[in-house]
Amino acid sequence: MKKVLEVKDLYVSFTTYGGEVKAVRGVSFALNKGETLAIVGESGCGKSVTSQSIMGLIPTPPGKITGGEILFKGRDLTKLKEPELRKIRGADISMIFQDPMTALNPTMTVDEQIIEGIIQHEKLSRLEAKQKTIDILHLVGIPGPESRLKQYPHQFSGGMRQRIVIAMALVCEPEVLIADEPTTALDVTIQAQILELFKAIQEKTGVSIILITHDLGVVAQVADRIAVMYAGKIVEAGNRRDIFYKPQHPYTKGLLNSVPRLDREEAELISIAGSPPDLFSPPIGCPFAARCDYAMEVCDRVYPFKTIMNREHHVDCWLQDERAKRLLAVK
Ligand code: SF4
Ligand code: MG
Repeated sequence: MKKVLEVKDLYVSFTTYGGEVKAVRGVSFALNKGETLAIVGESGCGKSVTSQSIMGLIPTPPGKITGGEILFKGRDLTKLKEPELRKIRGADISMIFQDPMTALNPTMTVDEQIIEGIIQHEKLSRLEAKQKTIDILHLVGIPGPESRLKQYPHQFSGGMRQRIVIAMALVCEPEVLIADEPTTALDVTIQAQILELFKAIQEKTGVSIILITHDLGVVAQVADRIAVMYAGKIVEAGNRRDIFYKPQHPYTKGLLNSVPRLDREEAELISIAGSPPDLFSPPIGCPFAARCDYAMEVCDRVYPFKTIMNREHHVDCWLQDERAKRLLAVK
């Protein structure tokens, strides 16, 4: 499968009055052509910071990419200057945020906003750009877009507004679409429709999608592969089947237990007790140890090595690692 984007050993920190927050600590993954990779974890785990790094949207200062590479079309995006990044954003890699209203300008009609985006990146006449706008609004399922071009964002429902935002993100035919909690602000029925829309668009356009979410339930429907992040690291990654049916990391299991399922009563939902470690001084061992029912002595002392379960599935947990016994023995 063709890789379109590769993140290699990425480190991102933020300097604050309290010290340096190590938000992303050695994250690596590849995104293949036409697939959806979900990055899942609690708020503050570094998933949004990872996606902002890809887009060149880390505010510097206080933020800084302190290590690693982000490879896209033979270039390392971490080395590019703002004008070059601006050409890539929207045209090659585009992003959708949680709240459609922040992405839309309330004072501009829908066609003006989309046409402006097109003209920034492509040499098209206004008439051609208008036709492209109508086509993309059709693609994202806005009924009768021709008659709605001159309407303002507030004249659309929340779900329709998110469709417009998706249209804006897709109109320049990017290779990569990053969606950060794209359905969190929507009610459950609309959420399902938007996720269906992602799948349909992917089938038609072949776009590769990174879906960022705190909710494993959301990814069950659309993700091909899932990376679970905790305290700035990917602690487990695998294809959807492996993560849902053969999760190995206690944190992944905890996230799965907190997802409502049809075959289980709501009341049985269990959330994970405790909270993530502070990332001013992350633990040297496993960052999940303080919340983990299976923690062993070695877990506090040494960060677990990556254990390869199969070609796509890997986990950072001592439970899966034969070497844990040896490390216990040397103590
Ligand atoms: Fe739990 Fe240890 Fe595995 Fe961390 S390494 S998740 S503390 S068993
Ligand atoms: Mg976030």
